[in-house]
Formats: sequence, C-alpha cells, structure tokens
Amino acid sequence: MSTLHVGIAGAGLAGRTLAWRLLRAGCRVSLFDERQRTDLTTASMTAAAMLSPLAELAVSDEAVFALAQRSMQLWPRWMDELAAAGAPPVYFRQQGTLVVAHAADRASLEHFSRLLQHKLPPAHRSQVHVLDGPGLAQLEPALAGRFHRGLMLDGEGQLANDQLMVALANQIDQLGGHWHEWQRVESLSAHLIHCVGAEYAVDVAVDARGVGSRPAWPQLRGVRGEVLTVECPGVSLQRPVRLMHPRYQLYVAPRPGHQFVVGATELESEDTGPVTLRSTLELGSALHSLHPAFGEARVLRLAAALRPALDDHRPAVALRDGVWHINGLYRHGYLCTPALVDGLAHQLLGTAT
Ligand SMILES: Cc1cc2nc3c(=O)[nH]c(=O)nc-3n(C[C@H](O)[C@H](O)[C@H](O)COP(=O)(O)OP(=O)(O)OC[C@H]3O[C@@H](n4cnc5c(N)ncnc54)[C@H](O)[C@@H]3O)c2cc1C
Repeated sequence: MSTLHVGIAGAGLAGRTLAWRLLRAGCRVSLFDERQRTDLTTASMTAAAMLSPLAELAVSDEAVFALAQRSMQLWPRWMDELAAAGAPPVYFRQQGTLVVAHAADRASLEHFSRLLQHKLPPAHRSQVHVLDGPGLAQLEPALAGRFHRGLMLDGEGQLANDQLMVALANQIDQLGGHWHEWQRVESLSAHLIHCVGAEYAVDVAVDARGVGSRPAWPQLRGVRGEVLTVECPGVSLQRPVRLMHPRYQLYVAPRPGHQFVVGATELESEDTGPVTLRSTLELGSALHSLHPAFGEARVLRLAAALRPALDDHRPAVALRDGVWHINGLYRHGYLCTPALVDGLAHQLLGTAT
C-alpha cells in the first residue's frame, strides 16, 4: 500500500502538531501557510499557552474539560518525544496555578471558588486547595504578605508557545515534511489543495487555517486577545498566578529568563491592529498590583491576535464535504490540542488501512 499523503492548510498549533504526529506515523505531509513559519502574528504565536483545565472550567464546559484532561496526559509524553528526537528545548511546567485576589476583590475569589466546586466533577475537587497567607507565601515567596487568601489548582501547567512552535517546525523538517511557506490556500476539496497559481493533489485534505477558514466555515469568528510580555529580574514565580477582579481575570505566566507573559484580554472584535492603551493599562496594572517590583519590568512585547471560535466555544474536528477540519480552538488551543490532534491523526490513519 502506498504512503498516505496528507495536505494540511495552516501551520499554526493545530496544523503543525497534526503534521508532526502524521509524519511520525509514516505519512507524507505537505503543509501550506500564507505566512512564514516564524511569523509572530498568529494566535498560536501570541498565546500565553496556559494549560488550565480547572480554572478554564469556570468559563467552559464538560466537553472542553474532558479534552483538557486527556491533553494533560499527552503533553508530558509529547514533550519527552520532542526531547528524545533532538528538537530544540521547550519550556514546560506542571506545578499548578495559584489564584489570588486583592482584599477588595475577595468576593470575586469566593465566587470563582464556588463556581469551580459546582462545575468540577467530584473526582477532581481534591485538586483545589484553599490557602491562607502563610500557605501562599510558602508556595510563592515573592508574594509573601501581599495576599491573605487564595487557591492552589493542582496539576495545571504552562509551556512556552514560541519554543514549541520552533521545536515542531524542526521536527517537521527532520521527518521530511514538505513545508510551503508564503503559500495562501484559496480552498480545499477532498483530494486537492487550491493555492494561488497552483493546485496540489493529496490523498486527504485538512483545513487548519484558524480564522482563515471562514470562507469554508462561515460560523467561525475571531475573538481578539492581547498579551503583554515583560522581563523582570527582580521577581521570581514558580507557577502561573491568576488575579481575580470583578471586571476581568488576568494571569501572569512565568517564562525562562525572568520573563512573564500577562494575559489576556478578550474582546468581541476582529480588529487585528496593535494593542490599545486601555488594554496596556489593564494588563500592566494587574501585573504591577501583583508585585511592585514589576514597576521596573522591561516591556518586551505587546501583541494581539484572533482566537478562532465557533458559537458553542468548543473545539471541533469535522469531516465536511470530503475535507477534514480542525478549528474553533478559541481560548483552549494549547489546553485541548493534543487530544484533538491525537484523535484526528487516528481517524486519518484509519482511512489508510
Ligand atoms: C492572546 C491569546 C492568548 C491565548 N492564551 C491561551 C492559553 O493560555 N491557553 C490556551 O490553551 N490557548 C490560548 N489561546 C488560544 C490559542 O492560541 C488558539 O486556540 C490556537 O493557537 C489556535 O491555533 P490554530 O492553529 O487553530 O490557529 P492559528 O494560530 O490562527 O493558525 C492558523 C494558521 O493558518 C494560516 N492561514 C490562515 N489563513 C490561511 C490561508 N488562506 N492560506 C494559508 N494559510 C492560512 C495562518 O497564517 C496561521 O499560521 C490564546 C490565544 C490568544 C490570541
């Protein structure tokens, strides 16, 4: 039997991870993207890449939670596989998340805590621990004396999305994937990828263009998100910290080299323009209120991108008119991709037998 040739439109998180898994399984893969692989303007390159199955349950549902649970098992395995194959290193931590609120916002923390207990399946409720001031200080000495009550969410994690995207590109090259950069895909049909000025025959076509898939899936919309990245040698955090606030919830995710990603705004807008002053103030104020030493942090990046979302805010894998789609990852792309991609890869490999 000949090798299955899969054509994937879109080399974001969904397209790259699928390409990598299929190449590892022995498929031929052609990957098409209208941007260069290092382009930073996509959702995948902009995300904070928090892996928060528990905290995100407050704003999602049991379908996302189930995908997240499965993905939290797969991420460590995927990281091991990337490392064993000699890919460039990827920062990945699974040391839980701390949730705190300033005294004036305590009601927001209480509400969040009750919501979690209400929505969490009983088997997972023991992953939530209530902390007092000394308990918080023990986990995060940098926050000692600043907060008097908080929650620890066991098992949550985060990774450096930029490093992951580099590692995946490296592996796609190593495994012989054929990468068409600067190649805009106009449309896909069952066995054809239609690009500007060229058509490529494939055995299976997969559409992973994020918001760019809207011509083929009109229900998709973009939800704007903005993040701030700073460098601050004066503060050390071991794990992401979520700050509860009556108007918004923001988080601070530590990265290697004393860098911190602060995110994320969520705006019902498809504006892809630069980050606004209002958002810069919100993100910066949240960071500064966590620890005054952040006042001296150096701003490295302010970035905005569109999260691809469907109306139910659930990620979707679907076969439509002979073309496979993986889309609607919304604010849970990093959280849910391993389970989604693993499932889709098995489906596609099944078609080859
Ligand atoms: C600010 C922000 C913070 C986030 N934080 C988190 C988080 O903490 N945790 C989490 O789990 N998720 C988070 N997300 C969500 C996550 O980033 C997305 O769900 C995920 O990256 C979507 O990946 P994707 O591959 O579907 O889409 P994209 O990253 O948008 O990739 C789509 C690719 O398709 C290409 N493309 C588009 N149109 C065409 C075309 N016509 N032809 C060829 N190529 C095309 C694009 O160039 C792009 O490379 C965040 C997102 C944002 C914006």
